Amino acid sequence: MTMQNNFLRYLQQLYAENSRRMRFQGAIQTFESWKAEARSKVIELLQIADLPTYTTEQDFNPELETVAEEEFPNYRLTKVMYQTLPHLTVSAYLLRPKGNDQPRPAILCPPGHGKGINQVMGEEESGYHLYPRKLAEAGYVAFVPEHISFGERANPEPYHGCRFDHEALNLLGSTVIGYRMWELQRALDILTTLPAVDSNRIGCAGLSLGGEMTLYLAACDERIKVACIACFLTSFEGTFLKEPHCICGYVPQMAKYFEHADIATLISPRPLMIQAGEKDPSFLVSDATEAYNQLDDHYRALGIDNRVTLDVFAGEHEFDVEPAIDWFNQWL
Ligand SMILES: [Zn+2]
Repeated sequence: MTMQNNFLRYLQQLYAENSRRMRFQGAIQTFESWKAEARSKVIELLQIADLPTYTTEQDFNPELETVAEEEFPNYRLTKVMYQTLPHLTVSAYLLRPKGNDQPRPAILCPPGHGKGINQVMGEEESGYHLYPRKLAEAGYVAFVPEHISFGERANPEPYHGCRFDHEALNLLGSTVIGYRMWELQRALDILTTLPAVDSNRIGCAGLSLGGEMTLYLAACDERIKVACIACFLTSFEGTFLKEPHCICGYVPQMAKYFEHADIATLISPRPLMIQAGEKDPSFLVSDATEAYNQLDDHYRALGIDNRVTLDVFAGEHEFDVEPAIDWFNQWL
């Protein structure tokens, strides 16, 4: 008999036998205690314990400043800068609808993997379809912060891209996904202090890596009241374990404990829209449907039958803007 090396097959077997160790499986009465434990585990795996937790206005001085301002017919667009730590300066776009001065609901819009906030806000032909601008036109404050590694926060050569940041943070005992999530929490700290924002009505919506960040943020931070995850929520099995994706998305050990649907379970009972494009070649509708079905069963077990929804649209790897706005209108 000839021995054959087939490590890919071994990895499938490893997944089958060794994944989702902490998925929720018990009686629904035990959900709240599972939730606390599972959320702690997700945060532990993101490896952000060494970063400070800013919980009050006094603790956190982001030194928010306005860099530029531009008027549009329905909203004011402000470019801002703030810091999350000394030497960690974030640029972001803040969109505030015009009209009365009442505090409004706000949507945090984490960008996907790519060219950053200027692509999200400026490239009409990109898969974002300028969704923060459309949210602002629909009456929402929108906030679009730059992630580390991308756009205006990209490192100079030869450190360009996310790979160096990912590997350096791993060596130092953290993860880029963890840092991105933690910085989005700092964006929430800022949003909740803005007079234009009703701090009890904050949602999050993102495409691809932006969807991944929406998943982690909504799972870990209850300040997010409604979420929309576009073209990400499927499974590790059907994406990062099936074909190579960018290294920065591989959070060490995450699939050993949780699948996408398990992490999304932490969002319940808050409303969650999952979007999946019929022609998305990597994040498949079939995998999104399977995750949705698991979540729908879970929401029903909680006695809720309409707060998780799957929007399958005739498109590719892109944001489906109108249904997302309708979803926020319904719940926020
Ligand atoms: Zn990357």
